Amino acid sequence: MAAKRDYYEILGVQKNAGEAEIKSAYRKLALQFHPDRNKNNPEAEEKFKEATEAYEVLRDPKKRAQYDKFGHEGIGNFEGFGRGAYTDFSDIFGDFDIGDIFEGFFGGGFGGSQKRSGKRTSRGSDIQYDLKIDLEDAAVGKEVQIEIPRRESCTTCSGSGAAPGSKAQVCPVCSGTGQTRQSQGFFTITQTCYKCNGEGKIISNPCKKCNGSGLTVNKRKITVKIPAGVESGSRLKITGEGEQGANNGISGDLYVLIHVSKHEYFERHGNDIISTVDISFPLASLGGEIKVPTIYGQKIKMKIPAGTQNNHIFRLKGNGLPFLGSYGKGDQLVRVNVAVPKKLTSRQKELLKEFAQLSGDEDVLDDGRSFYT
Ligand SMILES: [Zn+2]
Ligand SMILES: [Zn+2]
Repeated sequence: MAAKRDYYEILGVQKNAGEAEIKSAYRKLALQFHPDRNKNNPEAEEKFKEATEAYEVLRDPKKRAQYDKFGHEGIGNFEGFGRGAYTDFSDIFGDFDIGDIFEGFFGGGFGGSQKRSGKRTSRGSDIQYDLKIDLEDAAVGKEVQIEIPRRESCTTCSGSGAAPGSKAQVCPVCSGTGQTRQSQGFFTITQTCYKCNGEGKIISNPCKKCNGSGLTVNKRKITVKIPAGVESGSRLKITGEGEQGANNGISGDLYVLIHVSKHEYFERHGNDIISTVDISFPLASLGGEIKVPTIYGQKIKMKIPAGTQNNHIFRLKGNGLPFLGSYGKGDQLVRVNVAVPKKLTSRQKELLKEFAQLSGDEDVLDDGRSFYT
């Protein structure tokens, strides 16, 4: 038996690669070598299996730790593991969209047109829905109920398009295929059937509710789970919640495009949160402790060392946003603004003058210029 290749090498990632990176590396390989795309290509199939096996191990923290420690030997003990145990693709491809390559990928499998009992069905269109959420919700994740108007199978005619009590006739010209074929030498020319316009059926008594289309527009409530750490521009794919296909065909998918609103107090930089707090000149000079608001609602204590300068940035580790699909959080960066009082009582003025005097700064004050600049 040939020696097995290293799993990290197979996926082309570093040993310390994060979960998201491993997932994305596997996606790339799976798209490239998937058997549906490489018919009768044993080499591609082998590569696909190899990548799948590597992914099965590295995606699972337990198996990965075992593999890191003992190599290929270490993972032999896991039950139900082996070649051919294919990964659930809805898990890899279903949760996060990786763009349009997908459609091509699945298109060969069950998209497009299908022939079923003399009726041509087609895949419903995909729907995009724009969803606005607050930064606070992006930080912890949220379940949101949205209402989507979409075409669904008509309940009156059960999607057939024919009025109740009547039936759609199979098109006599194309026998329900929706296409006509003509042979010319080597070539076969396929055309859309002229009689039924490619529908494969003829409805003489159309359903009144859907005008024979078999589809009606309904509002549908869908619960969307927004993962913690989501960014503006992320697209969540919800398989099968798009428009329903004609003649009870397969449904398209719903894409929820996330827009994270700007926050009045917190600014997001990747997974870090930036905020500003005002502190007084005496506090900056003498040092002390303040409470800083976080994106998670609660305030946390932060030490101000004596002699803190204006615009100094403190880092509160782990108080930023979670890394999407991974462990850990970014940080909160707190910039301090040493606030200069605008109104002073006469007693305060007196003390400040005395302070200036002690600092040897009285000339500056008499000059009429600001003390602190
Ligand atoms: Zn109908
Ligand atoms: Zn026809």
